[in-house]
Amino acid sequence: MARFNDSTPPADGREIVWRDGRLEVPDRPIVPFIEGDGIGPDIWRATKRVLDAAVATTYGGARSIAWFEVYAGEKAQERFGDWLPADTIAALRHFRVGIKGPLTTPVGGGFRSLNVALRQILDLYACVRPVRWYTGVPSPVTHPEKVDMVIFRENTEDVYAGIEYQAGSDEARRLIAFLAELGAEVRPDSGVGIKPISATGTKRLVRKALEHALAEGRASVTLMHKGNIMKFTEGAFKDWGYEVAREEFGGRTVTEDELWERHGGRAPEGRVVVKDRIADAMFQQVLLRPDEYDVIATTNLNGDYMSDALAAQVGGLGMAPGSNEGDGIAVFEATHGTAPKYAGQDKVNPGSLILSGVMMLRWLGWKEAADRVERALSETISQKRVTYDLERQMAGATLLKTSELGEAIVENL
Ligand code: NAP
Repeated sequence: MARFNDSTPPADGREIVWRDGRLEVPDRPIVPFIEGDGIGPDIWRATKRVLDAAVATTYGGARSIAWFEVYAGEKAQERFGDWLPADTIAALRHFRVGIKGPLTTPVGGGFRSLNVALRQILDLYACVRPVRWYTGVPSPVTHPEKVDMVIFRENTEDVYAGIEYQAGSDEARRLIAFLAELGAEVRPDSGVGIKPISATGTKRLVRKALEHALAEGRASVTLMHKGNIMKFTEGAFKDWGYEVAREEFGGRTVTEDELWERHGGRAPEGRVVVKDRIADAMFQQVLLRPDEYDVIATTNLNGDYMSDALAAQVGGLGMAPGSNEGDGIAVFEATHGTAPKYAGQDKVNPGSLILSGVMMLRWLGWKEAADRVERALSETISQKRVTYDLERQMAGATLLKTSELGEAIVENL
C-alpha cells in the first residue's frame, strides 16, 4: 500500500470506497486521524479509547477501526517542517475520512488557518453541526431539551471566500471605480469585500441537508437567509434551496405553504417539510420555539453565528461536535481550539471530539455503535461525573480528568 508521511497504513485495514454516489465501508476501515495540538493528544486518547470500546462491544469483534496517524499543525511542523504536509491531504483524500483534534493557527505560515485550508483543498463544502442538550449540562435557557437541531453551513462561499481588499489599496480603488461604472457608489475610503453565492454551492449544500433529513427521519429543513435585504445572494440561496427540494426531492418533501394548503398542517408520512426563515427572525425562533426546527441549511456567515448561538443554548462549545463534508469524504473535528494552557494536563472535556466520533460512526453507517456512545456519554453526565468545565457549574458533581471521563463512558457503554 502507498506510504504517507513516511508511514504505511495498517496492513490489515481496508479503504472506504465511494461508488455511484454511495459509500462502501469495509468491516475494518482505515481511518486517518490528526491528534491535534495543545489539548489535542489528551482528548484524542480518550476519544479513541471510547470509540474502539463501543465498536468492539457493539459488533463483538466483527468490526473495528484501523487507525492511521497523519500529521498537521505543530507535530507536522516539527517532524516535516510543514504545517500541512501534502501527504496528509493525500491520505485524507485517499481514505475519504478523517478525524482531528484542534490545530494551532500558524502565525505567518502562509495559511489563514489549517482548518480553512483543509476545507478548501478537499472541497469539504458542508460544515455540519448537530446541537442537542444532554441531561444535566448547565444551560442558560429554561428548556434546553427542546433544542435538537443539525446545522448545515455552506463552507466555501459568501463573505468567507476571502475576496477582500483593504481600504486605500490599488485593488479597492479599482474595484470602487468599476462599481461606479455600474452606477454603484462606494465611498473611496472603503475596504471592499465580495459575497459570492452560487447556484452550484447552494444546491449541493441544501441537497446534503435534505438527504440527511430524509435519512434520519427529521421533520423539517429550514433555509435560513437574509434574502429580504441581499436579494441576489441570500435571496437566491433560498430560491435555489426550494428548487433543489422541488426538482430532486419532489415526492419526499413538502413546502410549508403546501402543508397548510393541501395537507391541513400535517406533513404526509415520510415527507420532510421545507421552509425558510429570515436570519434575524431565526435567532428569535431558536430561542422561543426551538422544537419547531430540525435541520437548518444556511449560508456561511449565518451558519457561523448560528452554530455558536445554538451551542451556547445547550451549554457551550465544550461539547459541540462538528464535521466538514464533501461528496464521499468527511473530516470530523472538535469545534473548540487547542486551549494551550491546559495542554498535557489530562484535564479538559473530550466531549466535543467524542461526539464528533459519534458523527463519524454514523457516517460510516455504524449507527448502533454511535447510539451506544451517545447514550453512554449522556448517562455519564447525568451521573454528574464530569470534567472541570462542567463540574464548576454543577452542584454535587464528581470531578474527573479527561482520561477518567473516557473510562467512565466506557463503563457505561
Ligand atoms: P480555545 O482553545 O477553544 O480555548 C478557549 C477556552 O475554551 C479555554 O481556555 C477553555 O475555557 C475552553 N475550552 C476549550 N476547549 C475546551 C475543552 N475541551 N474542555 C473544556 N474547556 C475547553 O480558544 P483559543 O484559546 O481562542 O484558541 C487557541 C488556539 O486554538 C489558537 O491557535 C486558535 O487558532 C486555535 N483554534 C483552533 C480551532 C480548530 O482547530 N478547530 C478552533 C478554534 C481555535 P476555560 O479556561 O474558561 O476553562
